Amino acid sequence: MAECAECGADISAEVALEEGEIVECEECGAELEVISADPLEFALAPDEEEDWGE
Ligand SMILES: [Zn+2]
Repeated sequence: MAECAECGADISAEVALEEGEIVECEECGAELEVISADPLEFALAPDEEEDWGE
């Protein structure tokens, strides 16, 4: 279990997460990137530009 980088809510992953995966916090909706799988740690995922890659 790890904490949301935005609101501090406990996040328990039901499946194994790998580094680089993006999960959404159920409490605040923030997108969190897995920066470490063991121990599990999250960081806020960078906002993607709306016009990115178009
Ligand atoms: Zn949160």
